[in-house]
Amino acid sequence: MKIVRLRTAVVEGNFDWTFVRIETDEGLRGLGECFFAPGLTSILRSLEPLLIGEDPRDIHRLFRKLQLATSGAGSVAGIIYNAISGIEAALWDVLGQWLDVPIYRLLGGKFRDRVRVYADCHGGEALESLDEVLRSRPASWEPKGAAHAARDYYGSEAGEDPPASPDDYRRQALKKRAQGFTALKFDLDVPGTEGPDSHNRALSNRAIDHMVSLIGAVHDAVGKDTDIAVDCHWRYNASDVVKVARELEPFRLLWLEDPVPPNNTAALKEVSSKVRVPIATGENLFLFEGFEEIIAQHALSVVTPDLQKVGGLSIAQSIAQFADVHTMPVAPHNISSPVGTLAAAHFCASIPNFLALEFHASEVPFWNDLVEGLPKPIIQNGFISLPEKAGLGVNLNEEVARRYARKDEPFFE
Ligand code: MG
Repeated sequence: MKIVRLRTAVVEGNFDWTFVRIETDEGLRGLGECFFAPGLTSILRSLEPLLIGEDPRDIHRLFRKLQLATSGAGSVAGIIYNAISGIEAALWDVLGQWLDVPIYRLLGGKFRDRVRVYADCHGGEALESLDEVLRSRPASWEPKGAAHAARDYYGSEAGEDPPASPDDYRRQALKKRAQGFTALKFDLDVPGTEGPDSHNRALSNRAIDHMVSLIGAVHDAVGKDTDIAVDCHWRYNASDVVKVARELEPFRLLWLEDPVPPNNTAALKEVSSKVRVPIATGENLFLFEGFEEIIAQHALSVVTPDLQKVGGLSIAQSIAQFADVHTMPVAPHNISSPVGTLAAAHFCASIPNFLALEFHASEVPFWNDLVEGLPKPIIQNGFISLPEKAGLGVNLNEEVARRYARKDEPFFE
């Protein structure tokens, strides 16, 4: 069997869901999803000639070929792996279809039939769609007449947006709980928590108190039967985020995510060693090497690789195995469409130390409609039942995908 074509499409969800399709001379087509990045489909197209004529079943060898071919362009880490991760997943889909087995079988079989999903609740607010450099945009699927305030994810100053309110957090928690989710994640770096200087990583006591009131409202609303995680998006200095985490200790959080930049082992370890809250990181790290030191040094407690970015399912398995040796659970970061989410679900089923998989798109009305082949909704009572069909187990609904596709990108052409 030989690869004859690589094609891409980008669907405008709450992020740019970037798909890569690998086509073979036997008519099999594998589908993978990549974490968005500027210039990503251009990178994917550049990699196509390296794959044409190759046997798609030689997944590890092709991974190495792509890695070596991009070594000059910086394949130690970085967005090259957003591309390679999607390609690798598509190759597993081809192999699964060729052997007529689900991907999880190829990964060594399953520990569980259902994958627990946690709901990302952002800052308790509603719709948001971000482009490839995190500018908010009005999405075509937003309700007509919805007020869209263009916003940068990286530059708001204190007072620009109304402060996040405990009532919003409580409402969002109860809504997600009613949908059956038993684990929720909320942002801490929200309006109302900016200090006098938005660039210096410092937190005021007033900001810390506001964060505690937000999470306290969630805790009071959903009680002890729901796990609560919080996310800091690597914004703070180690000593101030320690103050936050200590105030949050009574809530016995599932984890506190990205308190400081994830590649600074010393800063992560400082936070981890000073608080009784599990520290999570990983969504911005690449390859086994990206995780090796922070796991070996126990600078974190929960490992959160992103399957559409880290380098692929196989790399993620090696990270999970190493984490398991160090008794750490894995809770994959995930902002993808059902395609990437299902690929992640196969991985989650295949490792012993799985904790929960993220779901970030509950506000996108066509999320479930984007694929066919699974009972809907895909997430039922906070779980995804593992597909038993060959390969990934779902097909893209191209009619729906085309309707929401980015017009300035090719659509599998
Ligand atoms: Mg995060």
